[in-house]
Amino acid sequence: MTARTGFVWHETFMWHSQGKFSGLFPAIFPVQPGHHYETPESKRRIKNLFDACGLTRHLAPVDPRPASDAELERVHAPAYLAQLARDNELPEASAGFDAPFTRGSFDLARLAAGGAIEAVTRILAGDLDNAYMLARPVGHHAESAIGKGFCLVNNCAIAAAHALASGLDRVAMVDVDVHHGNGAEEIFWRDPRVLTISVHQDRWFPPDTGDVSAVGEGAGHGTNLNIPLPAGSGWGAYRAALDEVIIPALDAFKPQMLFVPFGFDAGAQDPLGRMILGSNHFRHIATALKAAAARHSGGRLMVTHEGGYNEATTPFMALAVVEAISGIASGVTDPYGEIMDTMPGHDILAHQREAVDAARLNLELLRATAG
Ligand SMILES: [Zn+2]
Repeated sequence: MTARTGFVWHETFMWHSQGKFSGLFPAIFPVQPGHHYETPESKRRIKNLFDACGLTRHLAPVDPRPASDAELERVHAPAYLAQLARDNELPEASAGFDAPFTRGSFDLARLAAGGAIEAVTRILAGDLDNAYMLARPVGHHAESAIGKGFCLVNNCAIAAAHALASGLDRVAMVDVDVHHGNGAEEIFWRDPRVLTISVHQDRWFPPDTGDVSAVGEGAGHGTNLNIPLPAGSGWGAYRAALDEVIIPALDAFKPQMLFVPFGFDAGAQDPLGRMILGSNHFRHIATALKAAAARHSGGRLMVTHEGGYNEATTPFMALAVVEAISGIASGVTDPYGEIMDTMPGHDILAHQREAVDAARLNLELLRATAG
C-alpha cells in the first residue's frame, strides 16, 4: 500500500540549541546549567517510538530543503529575516521574547519551513493526503517581524501562505497548542482568506494575547477565533470547544486546506501547561479535524508539531495523532492512557462552560464574513 501520510523529519532539526540555559533562563549564577525547556529529547523520543513500533516505514518520508527568502517573505518582514541571517553567525542571539538561539539556528529554521512547504506541495499535487512535520525550531509563536516563545519563523503560517500562493483562496488554521497561536493571528489578522482559530490556556503565553475579543480587523474581521480556556480544563471543556466552536467554524468557512499547529503541552503532566488532556483526547481532536478536512478540503491536512515538553508522555500523544491522520494502527498502547482518561476533572465546569459560550458568540460574525 502506498503511504498517504507524509512525515517531515531531518536529524539536524534536533541539533538546534538555545545555548547554556536551565528552564527559561540563561545559566548564569545563581541558575545552575541544565537544559532549556525546549530540548530535542521530547521530539527525538517521538521519532524513536515511531521507528521502534514500525510506524515510520508506513509513512512517506518528506525530505526538507531550505525555504527561500521569497517563501519566508510571504509572512515575514525582510528586515526581520535580514536580522536573523546576521545573528545566525553569532555564538548566541535572540529573535525576541523567550526566543534564544545559537549559531546556525536560522539555517535549521529555514530547513523546517522548507520541509513544511515541501509537504504542502506534495499534498496539493495529490501525492499525499496529509502530513506531520516533526521539526525544530518550532514556529507557531513567531510573528511577522519578531520571534517569540522558542520560535524563529512561523512554519505553519509559511506552509499556509505557500498553499495560497499555489492557487488556493481559502485555508484554515486550528492551533491546539496550550499556548496561544499569536503568530498566525498577527500574520493573517487582516486576511479574509485565512481563518485562524486557537484554543489555549487563558492568559498563559503570550500573556497579553489570545483574548476572545480578538476577531481580526478590516477584511479579516470575523476570521480570527480565540477560545481561551481556564487553567485546569480537561476533556469536557476541550470537547465543547471542538464540537461547538471549532468544527462549526470550519463548516461555515469551508477551507480548501486545513493546517494544524499541534502542541501536546495541554497534556496532563506537561511542565509548560496547566491542562489535563491525554493521548486519547488528542486522538479525538485529530480525528475530528481530519473529518472536517475530508468534508471541505478534499482531505488536505498539514500538521506541524509545536509544544509538548514532557519527555515521557509526549511521544504517545504524537503517536495517537499520527495514527488518527494516517489511519494506521501501530499496536502500541499508551501506558499513561488509562490514568489520563480516568483522572478527575474532565467534566466541564461552569467557568469553563462560560469560556466556550463566549467564544461561540463569535461564530455569527464569522458566518456573516464567510457567507
Ligand atoms: Zn506551547
